[in-house]
Amino acid sequence: MNAPGLDAYEPIVGPARIREIRAFAGFLRGVRLLNVNSTAVGGGVAEILRRAVPLLADAGLDSRWEVIAGDGAFYRTTKAFHNALQGHPQVIEPAELTHYLDVNRANAQRLDLDADVVLIHDPQPAALIRHRPTGPNTWIWRCHIDASSPQRSLWRFLEDLVRRYDASIWSMPQFTRVLPHPQFLIHPSIDPLAEKNRELAPEEIAAILERLEIPRDLPLVVQVSRYDRFKDPVGVVRAWRLAARYVPCRLVLAGGGADDDPEGAQVLAEVRHELGDDPRGHVLLLPPTADLEINALQRAAAVVLQKSTREGFGLTIAEAMWKGKPVIGGATGGITVQILDGVTGFLVHSVEGAAYRIRQLLGQPERARRMGEQARALARERFLITRHLQDFLALVLAMRTGIRELLVP
Ligand code: UDP
Repeated sequence: MNAPGLDAYEPIVGPARIREIRAFAGFLRGVRLLNVNSTAVGGGVAEILRRAVPLLADAGLDSRWEVIAGDGAFYRTTKAFHNALQGHPQVIEPAELTHYLDVNRANAQRLDLDADVVLIHDPQPAALIRHRPTGPNTWIWRCHIDASSPQRSLWRFLEDLVRRYDASIWSMPQFTRVLPHPQFLIHPSIDPLAEKNRELAPEEIAAILERLEIPRDLPLVVQVSRYDRFKDPVGVVRAWRLAARYVPCRLVLAGGGADDDPEGAQVLAEVRHELGDDPRGHVLLLPPTADLEINALQRAAAVVLQKSTREGFGLTIAEAMWKGKPVIGGATGGITVQILDGVTGFLVHSVEGAAYRIRQLLGQPERARRMGEQARALARERFLITRHLQDFLALVLAMRTGIRELLVP
């Protein structure tokens, strides 16, 4: 199937939005745009780039995507960066930092970094800036993680890299740092036409759940996430178990790994241990190609959870909202602007809080349905890829037309 172009989004977001995107892109026709991240599949960044890169090409930009390569030691170090930036202190040795810089240098030699606008995602490829080609290019660093309380020593190291960029983009105001360049706020987004989010017929959903061996006899409580401690899958099992004492329901935890996440297997083992042999709990390890399965699980859910303890912005929340589901999310980071507490779902601070809200939503299906409707409306307005493209194009325009001079603090 050919990937849908911009016009395919018109029935969903209306003609005005598409006209605006094309008008913005018109000013940037032929601009060579390069995105660089650290994994082609798995996790939210790859998920966004997979659709944003071709859509920007459809809008008339010369749009490319490169993925850096690293060895196990590199990804262990960058995972430690990730954990430390999200406030979990890590010991990172000088030799590991040197290796990180070396891997970035090797990638700079291997990749074609020649572009007018270069967007580098997250810390893994951040050191590519040290090898920026000369010329009138614009380099922007995009931070997708919750960097509101980073480990000081690591931030000092990264700051030296981030300061060299012409601008940075963050998902929430409280994640930003003091930096000598313009900082922009852009929320991530989902693609309503992707396999993961497109409409599914009830028979399709039923067939997929049957294939996954998940009975539909009881309401489903679903969390879709990489097996990562910050996603708190063990907390989800505990919350579900508490709720299920009062309201019979099944739990589905669905997730896979990402190429740049070496901790997944360990967290998965902890989840399995916590669940024991309870037959109402289903822990699925999905391949990166499981978009349709994730779509069906989110649609089959009575309640969706994203009980993260740290989250830059949860794409899974936007996905569930788009499917008209009330979402119970950890009251942290980007989740606090995604979920309107008590309107589109609930923000929770504990296992007990999550359990209480699961019970409440399962016990009041009409209220849950109304919340789901509100969630879908909010997702349409704020969390679709069309809004994201428009924000990004506006930013590039601002940077290239000199407005940046006004923005430098
Ligand atoms: N996802 C997936 N397979 C999995 C787990 C997650 O395709 O096994 C997708 C999920 O549907 C979402 C993205 O990966 O689109 C995760 O993005 P999010 O922002 O929620 O979290 P991240 O993994 O980037 O921390």
